[in-house]
Amino acid sequence: MLIHMRTQASPQQTGAVRQFLERLGYETAPLPYLGPGVFAALPGEDQVCLPDADPLPRLRRECQAALAIARLEPAAAHALTGRARRPGGTLVRVGPVAIGGEAVVVVAGPCSVESLDQLWATAQGVKQAGAHLLRGGAFKPRTSPYAFQGLGRHGLKLLAEVGARVGMPVVTEVMSAEDVALVADYADMLQVGARNMQNFPLLKRLGMAGKPVLLKRAPSATLDEWLGAAEYLMARGNDQVVLCERGIRGFDAHTRNTLDLAAVAAVRELTHLPVLADPSHATGRRSLIAAAARAAVAVGADGVCIEAHIQPEESISDREQAISPSDLAAFMPSLAAIAQAVGRTLAVPSSLFPVPLPPYSTTCRAV
Ligand code: PEP
Ligand code: MN
Repeated sequence: MLIHMRTQASPQQTGAVRQFLERLGYETAPLPYLGPGVFAALPGEDQVCLPDADPLPRLRRECQAALAIARLEPAAAHALTGRARRPGGTLVRVGPVAIGGEAVVVVAGPCSVESLDQLWATAQGVKQAGAHLLRGGAFKPRTSPYAFQGLGRHGLKLLAEVGARVGMPVVTEVMSAEDVALVADYADMLQVGARNMQNFPLLKRLGMAGKPVLLKRAPSATLDEWLGAAEYLMARGNDQVVLCERGIRGFDAHTRNTLDLAAVAAVRELTHLPVLADPSHATGRRSLIAAAARAAVAVGADGVCIEAHIQPEESISDREQAISPSDLAAFMPSLAAIAQAVGRTLAVPSSLFPVPLPPYSTTCRAV
């Protein structure tokens, strides 16, 4: 349920109402994006009793500060993510980059951060190709426990350093609630990977992390489940949420997944949140990425996420889908043309020149 305090409500009154609800078994979270006196009351964890279904009568009877409540709004499944909440759409800001406006954005970078040299060369390449955000995995969700798991904290440092020098905000995956604070220290945007889309403790933490979130769709998630995951983030106060369609489980192993293009259009109808498409994980084949990226922009995606590597054939993870920065540069004009055909533009990349790295190199070769 959403509680709207009166405009004249004092912080003490708001605090008293929140405390009262917490004693009744709710957790409360301010929703600053809906206004200063709006907060959510959510069924709490670790409670000894069930929360009152309708706490209003008790609030009125026992809590003086309840006089300062303007209204209680019952909240159902997509109360916050539904398009009706913000028909004009949400603009998500990641540093200087805006996602969800007229301009289509390109997120590019390696699947995994492998070394300073690899990341630096790739970042410069994708920046030159016209990308706007740098991606790179430091904590990697791998199918096999024997596969490279990412450079972790060191990878985060490399990303932050290279992103700052090359003039691109960085996005990277966070796999567990415990890592949110650490990853948020280094990254401009936190990615929830497909495998974690319904990791609710992670979503709850990210709702309060104060950083934009890139929420990938799980390979078998319905739109309802995907938007439900986004609702978790918004219900804890974070409206800086970007959805990302990365392919769903299909029957044909020719492509790694099936890019659900209709879902991109559908979520634009259903929600005000921006949506990106990831043709790399969707197809798993470098030869299909340009075509799939163009299709995604045509169908209304607010941008694309593309895995690029300075030496695609040497990629430690997701080698088959890695393209080079020059491959990316080659199809950027066609993305711009398609964006224009659907009434949009390709965002202008920041004009910041890369700040050269100091003359040392800590090549940290992964095993
Ligand atoms: C990734 O972006 O590198 C990744 C692991 O993607 P997904 O979670 O979509 O598989
Ligand atoms: Mn990958």
